[in-house]
Amino acid sequence: MSLIPRKISWKVFSLWLGCLGFGIAVVYGAGYWVGLIAARDLSTIGQERLSLYEGTLRSALEKHRYLPFVLSRDEGIKNLLSENEGREGVAIAVNRSLSATNQKAESDVLYVLNSKGTTLAASNWLEDRSFVGHNYAFRPYYKDAIAGRESGFFAVGATTGVPGYFMSHAVQDNTGVRGVIVAKVDMRPLQKQWHDGGEHVFVADENGVIFLSSRDDWRYRTISSVDDVALARIRSNRQFGGAELLPLNLRFHQTLNRKIFEIDGQKYLTLTRKTGKPGWIMHFLTPLALIEEKQRTAWISGAVLLMLIFMGSLFLRERRQKLRSAQRARQADRFQVINKKLQLEIDERKRTETQLLKTQEDLVQTGKLAALGQMSTAIAHEINQPMAAIRTFAASARLLLAKGKKDSVKESLVEISSLTERMSNITGELKSFAQKAPVEYHEVDLREALTNAINLMERVWKLGEINLHFQDLETFVFVKGDLIRLEQIFVNLLRNAADALGGQKEKKISVYLRHINQVAIVIVEDNGTGIDPKNLDQIFDPFFTTKEVGEGVGLGLSISYGIVKDFGGSIRVENTEKSGARFIVEFASALGCDHSDEDARKVAYQ
Ligand code: ADP
Repeated sequence: MSLIPRKISWKVFSLWLGCLGFGIAVVYGAGYWVGLIAARDLSTIGQERLSLYEGTLRSALEKHRYLPFVLSRDEGIKNLLSENEGREGVAIAVNRSLSATNQKAESDVLYVLNSKGTTLAASNWLEDRSFVGHNYAFRPYYKDAIAGRESGFFAVGATTGVPGYFMSHAVQDNTGVRGVIVAKVDMRPLQKQWHDGGEHVFVADENGVIFLSSRDDWRYRTISSVDDVALARIRSNRQFGGAELLPLNLRFHQTLNRKIFEIDGQKYLTLTRKTGKPGWIMHFLTPLALIEEKQRTAWISGAVLLMLIFMGSLFLRERRQKLRSAQRARQADRFQVINKKLQLEIDERKRTETQLLKTQEDLVQTGKLAALGQMSTAIAHEINQPMAAIRTFAASARLLLAKGKKDSVKESLVEISSLTERMSNITGELKSFAQKAPVEYHEVDLREALTNAINLMERVWKLGEINLHFQDLETFVFVKGDLIRLEQIFVNLLRNAADALGGQKEKKISVYLRHINQVAIVIVEDNGTGIDPKNLDQIFDPFFTTKEVGEGVGLGLSISYGIVKDFGGSIRVENTEKSGARFIVEFASALGCDHSDEDARKVAYQ
């Protein structure tokens, strides 16, 4: 599975980019927040640690505070400081006493200075680096005590080189200050204790000199520049021995709303508190790496989460696309099945169509045979009748001839001749239906053809007592055609109309000639039986007839239809509104007048 999308639109890409940017901002913010929380927690812990360290320092300082005061009351020391006493013996006694007290009180050194600052007795009187005989008038604790002030002073031992806290108290009698008692407390155990704690804690004095530190490399380094006056004073009272008091490689920052010390490139969250003597400041440093570690963890977790979300969304997208493709494939399969079904249906339909065509052909064939049968019957009847009559007339003619009645024979022969003429008419009709005569076009006056046809039917009107109404135009209406064949059409229509009048009381046939918009129209209308609506569609079919056998063969209208089509015209039929049928024949006119009035066209059909 590939997680890299194949096609990504710009819109989707920028959306992703936006989401990624937002995600990065959230992760960064979360990391920063984690840092803030961690800094707050570390500060709280740091404050507690600071209190603890401050306590250890205070107790270290306060623990021996009483010693100089108590010893200043000691009679032996007072005697030692008295110029009248024998010094040697007293000094030894005081030395021993100081040594014992020092051991008991767990101080570093206890010693007695005279008013000039020279050590007369010391607890370390037997050691190589004994203070006895050394002058400490340069030390502030001597000066303070002589001046009547209680003094506390941190310094590196001028004789031992051991750093310690010096506390002093003046020894007085009624003559004034006789000397000074000094108690030195070794600060190394405290520092060791801090060092063993593994934490970063130091105390800087009012000049910014670190004199107590859990880290050896920071001790006697400065955190701020020491001015020349202070430096001169430090040198003169030999506070830090020969230490160079080099500044620490220190920079200050403010990160996560906290004070940060950067020492030798390492960052520390720094908490400070005033402690001990005025000007002393205790510093507790927590490596920022702890916070940075937490921040890094948060950022890495966030980044991993972001990555997972990103990968997850890609995976989901891929999955969605796969589902969609599968859906499409399923749809395609469904369509294929439907297509196959359709194809099968189409094939089936085609087969059915072919079958139908074949059936139709069979039907046409059957229809043809039926028509042939009809035709044969009609012709046989039409021919048989006159033939039988001819046979009768011929037999009677023979008899009449035998009797010598020549006139009667003549009449019979006339009848025979008329019957053969009728038969030839029938066969002629069949011939004109079967063989298509070549179409000849002349400009023929339609009015003439119509008038001739009406005149030809003169006898029929009279015999049938038919009232014929001809609405003539009394003008030429030329169409392209053949006069005889046009007459044939109108004779057919008029005869059929006459036949349809059969039982009507008032028999009426109306003929109209119209010429509108270059169209010549002939309408033949009767008030006869009309046409059964179900027959309207097949009335122009050959051999369609409703007449009794012997009365019609059903070719008249079919022939008329063919002639009209040959001349480019049209013929149609409809039943009139009352009773009877109306035949409408139209030709495109060649010449003659033109009634372009649309109303006139409407009138034509009324
Ligand atoms: P035929 O007159 O020999 O029957 P046609 O083709 O001339 O053959 O006519 C076909 C049929 O049309 C007729 O049998 C008749 O039923 C019907 N027909 C034709 N003209 C009319 C009409 N004016 N009124 C009613 N029926 C008509």
